[in-house]
Amino acid sequence: MTAMGFYRRLGKTKYTVSALCYGVLTIGPTQRDLPLAEGVSLLRYGLELGVNFFDTAEIYGTYPYIRQALKGVTQEVVVSTKSYATTAEEMKRSVEKARKEMDLPTIPLFLLHEQESEATLRGHRGALDYLLEAKEKGLVGAVGLSTHHIAGVRAGAAHPEIEVIHPLYNYKGWGIRDGTAAEMREAIDLARQMGKGIYLMKTLAGGHLSTEPATALSKAAGLPGVSSVAIGMQSEAEICYNLAVLKGETPSPDLEKSVRTRSRCLHIEFWCEGCGRCVERCPFGALSLSNGKAVVRHDLCLTCGYCSGVCEVMALKII
Ligand code: SF4
Ligand code: SF4
Repeated sequence: MTAMGFYRRLGKTKYTVSALCYGVLTIGPTQRDLPLAEGVSLLRYGLELGVNFFDTAEIYGTYPYIRQALKGVTQEVVVSTKSYATTAEEMKRSVEKARKEMDLPTIPLFLLHEQESEATLRGHRGALDYLLEAKEKGLVGAVGLSTHHIAGVRAGAAHPEIEVIHPLYNYKGWGIRDGTAAEMREAIDLARQMGKGIYLMKTLAGGHLSTEPATALSKAAGLPGVSSVAIGMQSEAEICYNLAVLKGETPSPDLEKSVRTRSRCLHIEFWCEGCGRCVERCPFGALSLSNGKAVVRHDLCLTCGYCSGVCEVMALKII
């Protein structure tokens, strides 16, 4: 990994990004909901240590943290956001909201959120056309898509206007909706051959690979064509740990201990679809359905992580 360097060109875009991308979702209102100052302090800590890449989405509600964290920052910072917009009009609103709420004249990367396949991409043609127009005007730096699907990566790879692909990948293949980790690696390699900028999500499988983070991170960041991995981080220790691993260094025993011994709990995302698979899977009776959503009894949950492997929408995380 060190052979590839900690800062890497993102495909054919004009951006060079740190191999560690700060996934801002974790500090925001849908997860830890940190007070603004606390969240900003963590983002700034990452910046001070050399992280220049931040990933968010309109739906995460984290623009205020980013705005505040970047105030007065002069170094180049690459912010990526995403929107579920399907039409040009909706995407225009999304781009304007991002520019205004993050106080950025240009959003470096703007992605179509969760594209499943070529058909999904066709259904978002209006939104994509607006992003291309916004790029022409300098409102957006580069255009891409995020996906949990191998077919989504393949669709992006085949599409000349898509410059950046943000796929779900961990070496166990957890959360990949339409195939195995090996098949996702093949699709990522195809995207690399097509010159796409690639950065990964869910490399630690939503916290479930946090007992072996160094292995999971190294395997992901070492894939050919991968410029960065987006990781949600909630403490300075986690930032230091991930930075050390991605720089090819050995984290100190104290750092290792603090990352592995922090208190953990199961978090259920708002996008749970209430299918009930996790309820059946939990060996400890900690999950049930209420009003069409999974709910957890933390007093029964042993944070074993068995449930997350059966959730097709990656709505379960140990945080
Ligand atoms: S498996 Fe996932 S989508 Fe289904 S009920 Fe559980 S958390 Fe919700
Ligand atoms: S983490 Fe383990 S104990 Fe907790 S709800 Fe999931 S399966 Fe049950």
